[in-house]
Amino acid sequence: MEILQTAAELQARTEKWRQAGQRIGLVPTMGALHEGHLQLVRAAAQENDVVVVSIFVNPTQFNNADDFRLYPRVPDADAALLAPAGCTVLFLPSVEQMYPRPTVLTFDFGPLERVMEGAHRPGHFNGVATVVSKLFHLSRPHRAYFGQKDLQQVAIIRQLTADLSFDLDLVAFPTVREADGLAMSSRNRRLSPADRAMAPQLHQALVLGAAALAQGQPAEVAQAAAAQHLAASPGISLEYFEVVDAQTLQPVSGAVQAGQTVALCVAAQLGGVRLIDNLVVPA
Ligand code: AMP
Repeated sequence: MEILQTAAELQARTEKWRQAGQRIGLVPTMGALHEGHLQLVRAAAQENDVVVVSIFVNPTQFNNADDFRLYPRVPDADAALLAPAGCTVLFLPSVEQMYPRPTVLTFDFGPLERVMEGAHRPGHFNGVATVVSKLFHLSRPHRAYFGQKDLQQVAIIRQLTADLSFDLDLVAFPTVREADGLAMSSRNRRLSPADRAMAPQLHQALVLGAAALAQGQPAEVAQAAAAQHLAASPGISLEYFEVVDAQTLQPVSGAVQAGQTVALCVAAQLGGVRLIDNLVVPA
């Protein structure tokens, strides 16, 4: 595995691969890698000839300075995990490499970004769309891999890819969980032992909400039951619990229609660490 740190090197390397007819898989990450990331990398290695993994804690997608400052950064440990997972090139750029000058272009994804993460983290998806566009241009992948754990991010990137005619296939990979149900996340390592013990209640709340929907209860009832469950979980401060249409991400009201796929989505803080999770039903 090779480590590249400049945009020019990444561009040159991937261009050479393209000309040689090699299929390129891209896995964008912010590092502090866990099994969820590694499964994306293994899938990319299986489905492509070469795999680029980027690790870049993108400042423009953080709306909270502390979250950015405290985001875990362990590039050496990450590199050691990536080689055996099938990564060909690890792209580890500096902020100056990705942003040689301040960007002025802004994205507006309409209703898709007016809900949930977009509503609670102003500017977040603008930063995501900017950095993902840059990574797509620099590496020109045939396939790009994203986790369904960030459901709204997948929807935004799908829109971005269509609107800007990026010639690639998006792969949305199922959420990888710990044995107790907690969705794997780089931020989990910042949880205190007490908060780590409580964190699986987020998944429990999603399961509870999904069960209510499966019984034919209205979305509002499912939402209230899940919120109540979390309110009774010490240390968990709920930001939102939403039942949305899985395609449009707009809130669902009343009972779920036959054939409709919905997503239950949650965001909460535990001791200053912000976690998100979701469940798509039917899966
Ligand atoms: P991040 O480093 O958190 O920006 O994540 C990089 C990619 O890995 C994103 O596409 C995430 O959605 C994906 N990812 C993060 N956690 C998980 C997980 N538990 N299961 C599957 N994919 C994940």
